[in-house]
Amino acid sequence: MCGAELDSTPMMAEREIDLEIHSPITPIHGPELEAQGISLWMKRDDLIHPFISGNKWRKLKYALRDARRLGRKRLVTFGGAWSNHLLATACAGAMFGFRTLGFVRGDESASNPVLSLCRLFGMELVYVDRTRYRDKDSVYESHCGRTPNQTLDYRIDEGGFGPHALEGCAEIIGELMGPGDSLPPFDHIFCACGTGATLAGLAKGLATSATHTPQQPILHGIPVLRSADFLIPQIRTLYPHAHFEWHTEYHFGGYAKSSPELESFIRQFCADTGILIEPVYTGKLCFGVFDMIRKGAFPRGSRILILHSGGLTGMLGMHQRF
Ligand SMILES: *Cc1c(COP(=O)(O)O)cnc(C)c1O
Repeated sequence: MCGAELDSTPMMAEREIDLEIHSPITPIHGPELEAQGISLWMKRDDLIHPFISGNKWRKLKYALRDARRLGRKRLVTFGGAWSNHLLATACAGAMFGFRTLGFVRGDESASNPVLSLCRLFGMELVYVDRTRYRDKDSVYESHCGRTPNQTLDYRIDEGGFGPHALEGCAEIIGELMGPGDSLPPFDHIFCACGTGATLAGLAKGLATSATHTPQQPILHGIPVLRSADFLIPQIRTLYPHAHFEWHTEYHFGGYAKSSPELESFIRQFCADTGILIEPVYTGKLCFGVFDMIRKGAFPRGSRILILHSGGLTGMLGMHQRF
């Protein structure tokens, strides 16, 4: 752009809320896959952006556009101390011209590299103890509930959960389509579940693209937390018609819990593929898929897709183990 054009650009030009999506579908090879006659693929949403990672961009995209449409100036959201969502919101806010405020579960001692990155992207962090954190409405009200903030702030739920997340995640299915917009050429699609919004979005994407093919892929969710059945009604509030299989045996003791078996699987997978997975979400997801394949859960010739939902920060918190 030449100088004259620069000068004529309004100072407060609003930046378009979009990212160029680079999320190829890559094949995964391995002796156990060949032994079972399975072809395995990975949708690389981890490559969308280093900090606005994977499904966090999918979930933020329409929320941010809504915030812009309403003329809001600041994004306010919630997260744990290692939250991929806080970091994504901080970075996206900086990129698209919003200020950001993050309520962090815990006290100042929770400081870590992820929160440092949030701060670096200009996010204001407010630490909230675990008891108060449970009542998000009251936390929000006490900081942001008064005018004039009401008209300036845009609240986004923890993990980006909500109807905007549903729309963003549903778009993944469109990127899987085969030639001539036929249904995705996969028999099974797997994703990790924290809040379940990604799964709900995939379910919606599949249902709304299933026009005239009988061969509907089966959607599978692997929750990464213990006793995760409470997520099912939560998923149905976002998308009532969601059809999926639900695999509750791969939580490894609960959210952000790990085990030597999981860590050894992750080590092997990273070394074999050059694709980084981590213990909180994608490690459990891949472990589950490989475990089912090894146990012969899918007929020979099955085509399976794993959604790599991103999330490098889970690794930052546990790097001492690797
Ligand atoms: C947040 C996150 C998830 C969880 O997604 P939900 O839509 O909340 O189920 C999965 N994978 C990664 C890498 C994440 O950061």
